[in-house]
Amino acid sequence: MKVYISADIEGVTGISNWDETHKGHEGYEIYRLQMTKEVAAACKALLEAGVTEILVKDAHEDGKNLIHELLPKEVKIISGWSNHPLSMIEGLDESFDAAVFIGYHSGADTNGSPLKHSLNPDKIRNIQINGEIADEFLIFAYGAYYLKVPVVAVTGDGNLIRHVRRFDSKIETVATGEGFGGALVSIHPEVAIERIYKHVKKAVEADLNQYAIHNQKEYELVVEFTRHEDAYKYSFYPGVEQISEYSVCFKTNDYMQVLSFLLFM
Ligand SMILES: [Zn+2]
Repeated sequence: MKVYISADIEGVTGISNWDETHKGHEGYEIYRLQMTKEVAAACKALLEAGVTEILVKDAHEDGKNLIHELLPKEVKIISGWSNHPLSMIEGLDESFDAAVFIGYHSGADTNGSPLKHSLNPDKIRNIQINGEIADEFLIFAYGAYYLKVPVVAVTGDGNLIRHVRRFDSKIETVATGEGFGGALVSIHPEVAIERIYKHVKKAVEADLNQYAIHNQKEYELVVEFTRHEDAYKYSFYPGVEQISEYSVCFKTNDYMQVLSFLLFM
């Protein structure tokens, strides 16, 4: 069995301000280590459940956060960015049996985490797909479904996890903390690691056929920008229509076209 892990940092246990997400800034080394430990817990669970191949995408900033030597020897990492439209799930293909998202976070236009955002926080105020707030979980879950790979486990802040559970209650989840205003109340980092191990193991030991592949007939992507100049600019992307001062809309039945458009944000 082959499993793909996409790992971000803003939903890792305890992280609550932007400095902690940026290399060279205060706190970064602590949360880089916690991100690695959470991915390691997921990998350990997968290997014990009989998974033979694990590919991890380091999907935060420059894609060079995870400490490879702290992960099991069976694990391969994609570091850096190829600039493929699959982005946070690049390297995923139809040969994988399941996908796991670790350290994911609340999307733009929510108040679920002090670090909420979708893709580029400076540029994008809100993304919706078919009327639903599209956090990075939803954007890349649809990417995995496009490749017919089920998402079986997601970890991150509580608000994101409630979105995942509304979307598909079969997906195993671990909530690492709850944002309120600019603050976060987190569970203990060791407790998070124990829960990630337990739920990822449960996720892949289950019959993988129980996980739905949520492909849609049509995707209506609406992007609201923080600057009206960007709505004007992106209205010139083929097939895109400007629908308000700050928003554009793009409709397609091919999800790769959605991801290709988002690549140019
Ligand atoms: Zn990130």
